Amino acid sequence: MIELEGVKKIYYMGKIEVPALRGIDLRIDSGEFVALMGASGSGKSTLLNMIGLLDTPTSGRIVLDDVDVSSLNENERADFRLRKLGFVFQFFSLLMELSALENVALPMIMDNRSHERAASLLELVGLGDRMNHTPNELSGGQQQRVAIARALANEPAILLADEPTANLDTESSHQIVDLFRELNGRGQTIIMVTHEPELGERADRIIRLKDGRVMM
Ligand code: ADP
Ligand code: MG
Repeated sequence: MIELEGVKKIYYMGKIEVPALRGIDLRIDSGEFVALMGASGSGKSTLLNMIGLLDTPTSGRIVLDDVDVSSLNENERADFRLRKLGFVFQFFSLLMELSALENVALPMIMDNRSHERAASLLELVGLGDRMNHTPNELSGGQQQRVAIARALANEPAILLADEPTANLDTESSHQIVDLFRELNGRGQTIIMVTHEPELGERADRIIRLKDGRVMM
């Protein structure tokens, strides 16, 4: 479960304050598939980065999986991020020298079964026959599926995706959302940022942001 209370984020550009989040109260249950929507600059990435512990709020409280993450120190945050959170980004962020299999195995908490588990994750995302290809031998949609398999490496409680389809054609975009639906069917909690209405509507719930606030 994800709970935010009065989360504010102000960026500083020199002495100028840029309020990106103006007080977010939010609750997302385990097992939900939520789309985060809103105009460019409305605070979607900032909010996702707060939930993903990639950045800290200026004020407010965030509780993830019964842990008040606002009170964690930097090491504890990094540990929580590694064990509990999975990230998918707009630009797939794969290592181009490594095979699909090696990319997926990379973030795994070390054990001698990591290649076996990476292989089964690639099967899960439909790339069982492409494991030894490097990213430049794969289409954009396939590369994003490798990135999703990598995000699932440590069985995260929450999968966070920031505009995962922004660089994909319509068909590949829907395939990514198909995959999210399938993962969600297996119980995966997913938060997906998108500005494409027909993709957002395929989530269980849409949370709309406007000027750093949740629209009611
Ligand atoms: P979205 O993802 O919805 O397009 P963002 O969360 O990226 O919106 O940005 C929200 C607001 O915060 C915007 O006004 C943006 O310009 C500002 N902003 C985002 N990141 C920074 C930063 N690192 N420094 C200063 N301002 C930022
Ligand atoms: Mg953004």
